[in-house]
Amino acid sequence: MNFCSHCGAGDLDLRIPEGDTLPRFVCPRCATIHYQNPKIVTGCLPVWEDRILLCRRAIEPRYGLWTLPAGFLENAETLVDGALRETQEEAHARVDIGELYTVISLPQINQVYMMFRSRLTDVDFGPGTESLEVRLFDESEIPWEQLAFRTIARTLRNFFLDRRLGRFSLHVSSIERRAPLPPDLLAAG
Ligand SMILES: [Zn+2]
Repeated sequence: MNFCSHCGAGDLDLRIPEGDTLPRFVCPRCATIHYQNPKIVTGCLPVWEDRILLCRRAIEPRYGLWTLPAGFLENAETLVDGALRETQEEAHARVDIGELYTVISLPQINQVYMMFRSRLTDVDFGPGTESLEVRLFDESEIPWEQLAFRTIARTLRNFFLDRRLGRFSLHVSSIERRAPLPPDLLAAG
């Protein structure tokens, strides 16, 4: 962070404010403490009969790979409204949003995914500007090797497993990058 978004001063201090536990950018002029917190990604898993709707990304990162409709929650927006908006934008699709299904923390990139189960209300969908292609897949057709994100693969895997078991429950988990191997282990192959 280079400038104070409150007063425009430069030369922000990175220090632990009194009573706090983590370093924050603090403005030397107006004393505003700039907290930085994770972003929320909201989205859904749209179902039509026994098939799932996926979108092939027309944007980076992961151009050309498949994903569920999802994106960053906007200020002043609810989780459900954000999931509906992303589904409309990416797939021109309308859904009834159901139960919250997966909550996945990604601490290394400061994001939390929150994905809902949902039902398409009709099959009048098609690619929005952020998608190359939108289509329904049954379980055997899911392009597991061409999914854009591990959060999406995990959400889909949970879904097919729960569907087989005949009961769906909320899955709360995290994905953390593996620590790099120490040099002696690397040398050992
Ligand atoms: Zn300031």
